[in-house]
Amino acid sequence: MSTAHRYRISAHDPAAHLFEVRLTVANPGPEGQVFAMPAWIPGSYMIRDYARNVVSIRAESDGLDVPLAKLDKSRWRAAPVQKPLTLVAEIYAYDLSVRGAHLDATHAYFNGPCVFFAVEGQEDAPCELEIAPPEVPGAAEWRLATSMRRKDGPPYGFGTFEARDYAELIDHPVEAGNLSIGEFEVRGIPHAIAIRGKTRVDMGRLCHDLETVCERHMALLGVPDGFDRYVFLVYAAGNGYGGLEHRWSSSLVCARDNLPARGDDGVGDAYRTFLGLASHEYFHSWNVKRIKPAVFTPYDLSAETHTGLLWVFEGITSYYDDLALVRSGLITENSYIELLGRTVTRVLRGSGRLKQSVAASSFDAWIKFYKQDANSPNAIVSYYAKGSLIALALDLKLRYETQGRVSLDDVMKACWERWGQTGEGMPEEGFEAVAADVSGLDLDDFFHASVRGTGELPLDAMLHTHGIQYHVRASSGSSDKGGQKLENSKQRSVWLGATLAETSGKSVFTSVMNGGPAERAGIAPGDEAVALDGLLLSSGNVDKRLKAYRDGEELDLVVFRGDELVSTRIRLASAPLDTCYLELVEDVELDVESRRMAWLHG
Ligand SMILES: [Zn+2]
Repeated sequence: MSTAHRYRISAHDPAAHLFEVRLTVANPGPEGQVFAMPAWIPGSYMIRDYARNVVSIRAESDGLDVPLAKLDKSRWRAAPVQKPLTLVAEIYAYDLSVRGAHLDATHAYFNGPCVFFAVEGQEDAPCELEIAPPEVPGAAEWRLATSMRRKDGPPYGFGTFEARDYAELIDHPVEAGNLSIGEFEVRGIPHAIAIRGKTRVDMGRLCHDLETVCERHMALLGVPDGFDRYVFLVYAAGNGYGGLEHRWSSSLVCARDNLPARGDDGVGDAYRTFLGLASHEYFHSWNVKRIKPAVFTPYDLSAETHTGLLWVFEGITSYYDDLALVRSGLITENSYIELLGRTVTRVLRGSGRLKQSVAASSFDAWIKFYKQDANSPNAIVSYYAKGSLIALALDLKLRYETQGRVSLDDVMKACWERWGQTGEGMPEEGFEAVAADVSGLDLDDFFHASVRGTGELPLDAMLHTHGIQYHVRASSGSSDKGGQKLENSKQRSVWLGATLAETSGKSVFTSVMNGGPAERAGIAPGDEAVALDGLLLSSGNVDKRLKAYRDGEELDLVVFRGDELVSTRIRLASAPLDTCYLELVEDVELDVESRRMAWLHG
């Protein structure tokens, strides 16, 4: 075993949001040692160039400075030395997202790719990490949570940690601060949840429910080798939503009121959102952290790595996240089909689904899905949302056409055996081949149309075979996410074909739909709404204002473009049926009922 690289990170200057990172390499390369910072973090497919946050950097050996040359945007080479070489850097950390690093006087959070340099050519060597406590008032009460294996120091304390290699070192985010910590076990494996942020969380209930969800996923694919601990790191903020998966942990950001407070009962919209997020990240422990696209084995963190398979890894994970909630009894069937209706609605509302396939969306995630702008609804489709609907359609199709013999569960089990347990990467055509293989069905047309094509999915028909009625209706307005039945009188009769949102106290057109009334009237993203038909128009009153008009009416519309007033005429059109809701069919035939039971209850 080669000598471990020794890393040390300290909260060097919390007021300036600077970590100090020291890295000592026992046997630096004879030609001079090269160090590299990742350009991206696994799970978040965008070039972020973490080296941009390196504020200062130097090298030393045997008490003397060693010259350091910058090679490119992310790499440095230290001059050759005979003795151990130490790199010392100050790294700016003020990004609160799950893919960043953040340091202030109240807490320290970091992802490895943001702060740890790779030792080029020695990435396979083991790593040791000392995390030093900060010298700020109150830090004595801080606790530290991470899934990294502890070498010394008390539980939830600062200390020394170890990782098998660099790839593992950067796969364990770390949170330290005033944390609320809950613990539970799943199949004897210790799990923890560490929450930062003021909460009145009912920790007992939260742990019980998480245990239920985690157990559900374990029951599907089994315990991965070496899966001997798991940590949910949660930042409960005023507002926010997001997560990033790792092999033994995940980082989540949620709104504070998405966590169950003491005295709450039932699973409302908010708590269901949190459970879905936690379920999603946990399922990734199998699907993308162990079953991986071939191009991610290993990750090349220096540049974009393209795969057409993100719909498999994000879409299928998005399908199983909420499905696990209904299958484990945490939410009702009606609650679950409400969520499905919302997902269908999200896909229906963008005409981008007619232009971009999920395979293309996956491939171009780096430049499109992760770089969305006002035109995105017209140009791209989410491989999350549509990917989960492909998973749904495929699951129901497999169940129906094999008379219940095969389901998506069986396909996932086969993927797990073939790629998860072996560590081999899934080739680009791998998922489709396994699905056909396991089911014995010819799925070419299905995959061709749904994955590489832009046709509508056969959801209506497939849901029907499982006792679910598919409906579409018009939206009732900007807060209508779909999923629920609504009387005709509450639905829009006309629309502008644009979204209005309040930004900096102004009502601004944020997206303008291709072919819609606003686009034909010459309205552009960024225009500030002023008046419609002679009366004030705002994001707050648009839904109410439109109720007074009918399809085909032509009205004066006034906006500011920059500081210039623009007057135009807009011809209203009838609102599209872009909002889906589903209903459980009562009194179905016995075979339909048993199919529905098998699907929703495993
Ligand atoms: Zn995900």
